[in-house]
Amino acid sequence: MHDEDGMGDSDPFERLGAAAAERAAAGLTRRLRPRPPQEAPDAVDLAGNDYLGFSRHPEVAEAAAAAARRWGAGATGSRLVTGDTLLHRELEEELADFSGAEAALVFSSGYTANLGVVTALADGSTALVCDRHNHASLIDAARLAKARGAQVLLFDHADSATAEAALAGSAREHRILLSDTVFSVDGDLTDIAALARACAEDGAALVVDDAHGLGVVGEGGAGALSAAGLRGAPGTAAAVTLSKALGAQGGAVLGPRPLIRHLVETARTFIFDTGLAPPAAGAALAALRLLRAEPERPRRLRSLARRISAELTSAGLAATAPDAAVVSVLADSREEAVAWAGACRAAGVDVGCFRPPSVPDGRSRLRLTVRADLTDAQVDRALETVVGTRPRGSG
Ligand code: PMP
Repeated sequence: MHDEDGMGDSDPFERLGAAAAERAAAGLTRRLRPRPPQEAPDAVDLAGNDYLGFSRHPEVAEAAAAAARRWGAGATGSRLVTGDTLLHRELEEELADFSGAEAALVFSSGYTANLGVVTALADGSTALVCDRHNHASLIDAARLAKARGAQVLLFDHADSATAEAALAGSAREHRILLSDTVFSVDGDLTDIAALARACAEDGAALVVDDAHGLGVVGEGGAGALSAAGLRGAPGTAAAVTLSKALGAQGGAVLGPRPLIRHLVETARTFIFDTGLAPPAAGAALAALRLLRAEPERPRRLRSLARRISAELTSAGLAATAPDAAVVSVLADSREEAVAWAGACRAAGVDVGCFRPPSVPDGRSRLRLTVRADLTDAQVDRALETVVGTRPRGSG
């Protein structure tokens, strides 16, 4: 309906208020909570993904500043225009060397790396065989690929037998199996070796999202493909993020040279996106070098995660046994999860609160992301707080 002057008679965004009210009524309100610039000395962060404590590491911060001074605060253009620097090349070479891949290509985020690699590989000749619980970025990538004619088949979470059946059942000429390595909600590491065997038998490619694996699993944190004995294995590739264990920002695809060249020339999220900002590239490179110099960091991280999980379990909570650095603790209801996470935060222990629609099985939980730089006192305090703040009347 238009007024006589041709102007609409209502605000076209007004309906969004009603949608927000509906979300609020369903307990699905999400709010931004700016964090302080420096963590309070007695606060414990178990909500972020700074697994190795690199985001505030002085050498990492200094590398970001030095990169800004030398190359600029921003990339100034897409990598194929003005956004490519020797720093990006250096980072790619170091990432490839570290993970055992032939080559690497840096993207502006893990999200765009996933969108880029999947859409560059999939067209009408391709079937994408996907774990049902894959991360949103792989789901969105599959949706985009579907719009380009790709077939999308789902298999049961972490079930290599149904994955194998889906591969065998597709008549498409090319088949690509897509799976997270460490699943971000519960922290379980899927059986990559079994998926790789299914792919090898079928002649399919295996592309994994190792966002929560790089820097965390495998010898020295070299990632899930390495941990599964698939370092540099033909037919495999990994997308990673630079924003979790490496404490910076950005993403990358690690894989065989022909794949990387194909991405440079065809991946839309590489070609049409401004290159990774030099400070992020510099920070990621510095963090990667620290990780290589201190390979015990990931080991300490995994052992802390196991300890936290074991102690929560022995206190009677339903905590997952972690393969990596994520421990999730089931709550009885969405309301309980929200109240519990709020009580933890009020006590200075920041934890993640996951509830529908961000949880694949509809069960709300707290998510604790463990960090290698937690002190024993912080771990004790976190355990005490999570156990002690569980809302009364539950469990
Ligand atoms: N994959 C997984 C499994 C993730 O958890 C994330 C981050 N939430 C991403 C991809 C996206 O990475 P980025 O944040 O670098 O875009």
